[in-house]
Amino acid sequence: MINRYYFDYNATAPLADSVKEFLARGAVFFNSSSSHTSGKVAKKEIFDTTEFIQKLFKTKKHVIYHSGATEGINLFFHGRVKKLLREKKKVHLIGFATDHSAVLNTIEQLRDESVSVTVLPVLTKGEVDLEALKKDLQSHSHASILINVTWVNNESGIVQNLKDIVEVTKGKSVSIHVDGVQAIGKIPHWNELLPEIEAYTFSGHKFGSLTGVGITLLHDPSEYLPLIIGGGQQNGLRGGTENVLGVVSLRLALENMAQNLPLVSHAAKDLIENKLKETLGDQIIIVGLGAVRNVNTIQVIYKKTPSDSALIHFDLAGMDVSAGSACSSGRMKASHVLVALGYHEWKNHGLRFSFSPQMSLEDAQNFSTKIISVFQKI
Ligand code: PLP
Repeated sequence: MINRYYFDYNATAPLADSVKEFLARGAVFFNSSSSHTSGKVAKKEIFDTTEFIQKLFKTKKHVIYHSGATEGINLFFHGRVKKLLREKKKVHLIGFATDHSAVLNTIEQLRDESVSVTVLPVLTKGEVDLEALKKDLQSHSHASILINVTWVNNESGIVQNLKDIVEVTKGKSVSIHVDGVQAIGKIPHWNELLPEIEAYTFSGHKFGSLTGVGITLLHDPSEYLPLIIGGGQQNGLRGGTENVLGVVSLRLALENMAQNLPLVSHAAKDLIENKLKETLGDQIIIVGLGAVRNVNTIQVIYKKTPSDSALIHFDLAGMDVSAGSACSSGRMKASHVLVALGYHEWKNHGLRFSFSPQMSLEDAQNFSTKIISVFQKI
């Protein structure tokens, strides 16, 4: 691989060293449902991983393995909605305007005569509008309500205060799903789950495991119908042969993140932001200044040049940067996150730099020089 600067950790993080070593050693390939001795080896790997995850996250929630957060989000919403509709309940779904499209498109697709949907605004610093949430809960008090909260936004790095949201929903018929994809390793206390929250979803490739494996930790599997129906694996909640290789890689990557838990620090990101501000002044807006944000993400609006053209300059200068969330078509879309934050005018001017959460001050110094040199040319 050619030497490049990789500033797109929020899209996919590089494999953890321990995962690379595991793959090089000749990894586990058996089917965990086989009854022979080799199958049992695979089964034990999954069992051990589940125990490890429950210990790390200090939780008794059930661990469901799947292909990644998009599936986890679909499992939560489709699985719960199917069950509730079977019980002849009315359902109300709530998302927020800055949620990932995996959430917004999923809840929109579920809308029908028994399922209503609201996408609520966020406030100017990106935090959930609790007053709007209270009102919406009030006006749908006859329904079973499912809410998605994105713990850390993938474009801006803005962090939600989950406790405040739980507080507002207390005593109501509400289940909260937390999209925790961008939280692992990127905020302090990312492994402390709130018992009041029904489910948390994470994607392995965002923190160093193979792509194609993720987990949803949920409180009560009996409240769901499966999204993927198969041979009864995972207590019937997710059919299909378990991805043992992926599951082990997820454990190794999480072990690595857990070792770094005490080191989650804003210092390196702050250094880059300060340099950008000093040099580029009001040619840029750093999104989310003054809000609680994670340690690795800087979303910049570059006023002079739209993102599609700016990205080409960064690419030619050897830097992998993105405009926001990775888009399957490869085409540039305006950022719905910038629109939701009130930057309608600049919705095509967003650039996202997402670094290793363990970036050193020395690297930050070097990266800021490189990044600024590109901005100064465009
Ligand atoms: N939610 C958030 C906040 C994300 O950043 C992403 C991916 O970028 C997803 C969900 C979807 O994750 P995956 O593509 O791994 O399924």
